[in-house]
Amino acid sequence: MNKVLIKSAIVNHPPPAPPIKGREKQTYGKAPDVHKIFEMMLQFKKLYRESDLKACKLIIVLTMVFLAASGCKKEDAVINSDEFLIAASFYPVYIIALNVAWGIDGVRVVNMTPPFTGCLHDYSVTAGDMKNLENADIFIVNGAGMENFMDKIAGRYPGLKTAELSEGIRFIKDINGVNPHVWLNTGNAVIMTQNCARFLSDADGKHADLYKKNAAKYIKELTDLKEEMRSSLEKFKGEKIITFHEAFPYFAEEHGLDIAAVVEREPGSEPSARELSGTINLVRKMKIKNLFAEPQYPSASADVIARETGAKVYILDPAVSGDDDKGSYIKIMKKNLSVLVSSFSDK
Ligand SMILES: [Zn+2]
Repeated sequence: MNKVLIKSAIVNHPPPAPPIKGREKQTYGKAPDVHKIFEMMLQFKKLYRESDLKACKLIIVLTMVFLAASGCKKEDAVINSDEFLIAASFYPVYIIALNVAWGIDGVRVVNMTPPFTGCLHDYSVTAGDMKNLENADIFIVNGAGMENFMDKIAGRYPGLKTAELSEGIRFIKDINGVNPHVWLNTGNAVIMTQNCARFLSDADGKHADLYKKNAAKYIKELTDLKEEMRSSLEKFKGEKIITFHEAFPYFAEEHGLDIAAVVEREPGSEPSARELSGTINLVRKMKIKNLFAEPQYPSASADVIARETGAKVYILDPAVSGDDDKGSYIKIMKKNLSVLVSSFSDK
C-alpha cells in the first residue's frame, strides 16, 4: 500500500476543568504567561504613541498567536501508512491470519476483539473493537453468520474490504440455521487458510508469494494434525458425547462422533429444570459416560448431570480464546484429542 505519510496538526483543546472540591485545585493545559502579555501591551502602547502603525499591527498579531498557543497544544500525528494492516474479527480467524502473514515485513495482524472474547454469536461489538479497524486494509472474518454485527461495521467503514474465510465450506444446518463453528473441522481449517492466502494475495499483491508460502507451511501442519486425529479417533467412531455449547458438530462429523445432546446452545444460558431432567434421563438411558464442558464457559449444569448420572465431565476447547502463539489452534486440538482418547478409554 503506497499511501502517503500523513502529518496532520491536531489541536488538542484542554478538557473542561472539573468543579473544584474544597481547597483542591487542578490546572488543565498551560495558563497564559501574564507578564509576557503585559510586556507586549506596553510595547504596543509605546509604538502607538510613536505612530509606528506597521509595528503595532505586528505586535497585535504576535500577541494573538501567543495567546492561542498558550491555550492550545499542537501535535504531529504520524500514521505508518506503509504498513499493510490485517484485522481479524476474533481468535480462530486471527490465528489463521497470523500464520499466513507470519514474518512478512510491513504486514501486521491485529485481533479486533480481546483474545478472551469467545464466540461472537453472543457478543456485542464495542466502540473500542471498532477502533481497531480504523487503519485496517482488510478485515478477515469467519462468516457463516458468526459476525452478526457486520452492518454496524459497514456503516462505520463503508470502504473496508471484507474477506470471509468460510467461503466454499459445506455448512451444517439445524433448526436454528447455519452452524458457524466451521474451524473445528481440521479440513475446514485448511480451506480457511487457503481462502486467507488468496484474499491477502489479492489485496496485497507484492507479498503474494510470501502469503502462499506461509499458507502451504501451515496447511502441511494442519494436514499432519488431521491425520493424527483421524488415526487416534478411528476406533471410537459412533461414540456418544454431550456438549454444552453448539460448537462441535463440525468436529463430531469429522471424527464420526455422535452428539447425543447439546445442553446449552447459547453458552452460559443455563437450561431449565425440565430440560435438565430430560438430559439426565437421556444420559441414563443411553448410558453416556462423557460430558464435555468448555474452558471458556463453566457450566453448573454439567456438574449436576454428572452428579445425577455418574458420567464424568471433561473439557473440550472450541479454540475461541488463547494467546498470540500462532501454533495455538494446533496445540488446542492436540489437547482435545488426548482428552477424547482418555475419556473414551476410561470407561
Ligand atoms: Zn460458539
